[in-house]
Amino acid sequence: SKIVIAIDGYSSCGKSTTAKAVAARMGYGYIDTGAMYRAVSLFFTQEHVALSNPREVVSALENIHITFNFNQRTGRNETCLNGLNVEEEIRKMYISNIVSEVSAIPEVRRAMVAQQKKMGRRRGVVMDGRDIGTKVFPDAEVKVFMTADTYIRARRRQRELLEKGELVNLEDIIKNIEKRDLIDTTRAESPLVQAPDATLLDTSHMTIEEQVDWVIQQADQ
Ligand code: C5P
Repeated sequence: SKIVIAIDGYSSCGKSTTAKAVAARMGYGYIDTGAMYRAVSLFFTQEHVALSNPREVVSALENIHITFNFNQRTGRNETCLNGLNVEEEIRKMYISNIVSEVSAIPEVRRAMVAQQKKMGRRRGVVMDGRDIGTKVFPDAEVKVFMTADTYIRARRRQRELLEKGELVNLEDIIKNIEKRDLIDTTRAESPLVQAPDATLLDTSHMTIEEQVDWVIQQADQ
């Protein structure tokens, strides 16, 4: 029968690349919860929402509809915000620089978690994020907590951004990763923490294939 695989951990450890490949191999759905917080951040930026004003935040959230669309032509999943493909935009550095502040807002988390629970209600999904094993699916059959050396994470992230045409220096990437990890681990509402029943995976010296095999092995047990 179908299960839920929860992949949580620090920024840029390879969670989404691994989760995507695991989902493809198992014939499961893949849900990138970070993309949802990124889409909310994009919307808030576009609409100049005051993050410190809960009423503004709540009414903005009512106007946000996030979906994942499989593009037949590119063979890729696209994040859509109110029907528009924002996949490229949400990966940019200016979104990475505000997303952790946005995702720390309790009202934002409440709305996204409710949607994520719905998306995975029939199980058969791989979901990656920061609170999947602790909050969204505490009953997930497989829970992985990913970590990796900060410098290695930054190098991987830099290469990813470069492939998309954005040149960012390593110092700025390290600062961004460290800042996001700090906000994620110290926020009041479901902070990033390893679930007691999650297995730790340090990807510092692993290839994507090794990571994928490792997660699938957990699912086979
Ligand atoms: O996974 P990704 O790095 O794209 O996520 C962007 C940001 O969204 C994270 O740095 C974190 O602040 C937030 N996030 C979260 N909870 C999740 C997924 C992401 O708070 N489940």
